[in-house]
Amino acid sequence: MALPCTPEEVSRILALSYEEEFPVVPRGAGTATTGAPLASEGGLVLALTLMDRILEINAEDLVAVVEPGVVNAKLKEALAGRGLFYPPDPASFRFSTLGGNVATGAGGPKGLKYGVTRDYVLALEAVLPGGEILPLGTRTLKGVVGYDLTRLLIGSEGTLAVITKITLKVLPLPPKRATLAAGFATGAEALSAMQAVLSAGLLPAAAEFLDEVVLRALEIPQKGVQGLLLFEFDGPEKAVEEELHQAFKILESRSLFLERAEGASSERLWEMRRSVSPALKKLGSKRLADDVVLPRSHLGTFLATARELSDHFGLPVACFGHAGDGNLHVNILYEPSQEDRAQALREEILRKVLELSGTLSGEHGIGLLKKAYLPWEISPGALKLMKAIKTLFDPKGLLNPYKVF
Ligand SMILES: Cc1cc2nc3c(=O)[nH]c(=O)nc-3n(C[C@H](O)[C@H](O)[C@H](O)COP(=O)(O)OP(=O)(O)OC[C@H]3O[C@@H](n4cnc5c(N)ncnc54)[C@H](O)[C@@H]3O)c2cc1C
Repeated sequence: MALPCTPEEVSRILALSYEEEFPVVPRGAGTATTGAPLASEGGLVLALTLMDRILEINAEDLVAVVEPGVVNAKLKEALAGRGLFYPPDPASFRFSTLGGNVATGAGGPKGLKYGVTRDYVLALEAVLPGGEILPLGTRTLKGVVGYDLTRLLIGSEGTLAVITKITLKVLPLPPKRATLAAGFATGAEALSAMQAVLSAGLLPAAAEFLDEVVLRALEIPQKGVQGLLLFEFDGPEKAVEEELHQAFKILESRSLFLERAEGASSERLWEMRRSVSPALKKLGSKRLADDVVLPRSHLGTFLATARELSDHFGLPVACFGHAGDGNLHVNILYEPSQEDRAQALREEILRKVLELSGTLSGEHGIGLLKKAYLPWEISPGALKLMKAIKTLFDPKGLLNPYKVF
């Protein structure tokens, strides 16, 4: 493993990789769920974790410049002290790096109102295979000069270049935040209530959904609750109060309970949401985890199909996540002896996602584990272009090889 401290050191390592022809695998905190930062076939792991300085916070331009190893939460804390805010909030935000977030195009609950990592990256410094250091993008909020190579690198999973500096757009910190938790008799009722809130013109920062399998794993006393929604509203105090009032009116006749939370009790609810993934280990020693996205109007149909398939294959399927933007984490839990059955169930689920005009990954990407499914969604022509782009950036195929394709 190499732990560079400067872009020049990254450049020298990538130059050596090209001279000596050994693979290099960039790595942030190693939290990717797809195997993307693993040196699966050998090679040098290039960990960016020592490049962890916040280089600049500029309140006038609403810009922050960071090295790639800065942990997302560390930037949020530094900004909050200046009355500023960086919205993208993957559930791993307390430990994943901004370099990893950019390389995977990470998203989180606040994607509903604020968008995802992709919407905040203004400029990057990147080191190409072979060692050339390239500045990409602009520090300005707009810029259309030439092809958008900055965006091409976002979500490229470390296969095109190593990111060594990131210029991010930031926002003023909303003065008020409040959480609303609502329990429902079924998952379908929860999803339909969420649609009612969003169709009424309300725009919460987040609208998260947890199904009954997740509630069982979290050991939340259920009392008939088979579906849970967590909303976050933020903004000026009066606007938040008005939105909460309207949401209450829509939800109170539909839900089994409604609870408003702020401060520490709100944080407890969001910690509970972030603990879903580890809690699911109780339901199976192995899992197949997908993060599919559907048009919101199809979420109910998808959930019903997931339940039917779960019954048919006899394996628990947990559905949870950022339902507000249509992004559901679908986890199949199983034991090693049930591997084939779990794979068959996964394929049925992924087919249904595509049939409902969805996409196979909203934020986790392809990595190693989902390569087989790429051609299910991407047309042969587009795939050919993508492979040609990879060859253009990395003619020797030495940067994070065997990932994505
Ligand atoms: C409990 C848990 C919850 C999670 N929740 C979410 C979620 O809500 N939303 C979400 O989007 N993801 C989530 N993830 C997945 C993961 O945290 C994200 O993909 C995150 O962005 C990865 O950041 P990292 O620093 O760990 O990067 P790594 O896992 O180390 O690397 C991820 C990819 O980025 C590449 N990479 C890393 N740094 C660089 C760099 N500087 N230059 C070029 N390439 C680089 C690697 O090669 C690899 O392909 C979760 C993971 C866990 C374990």
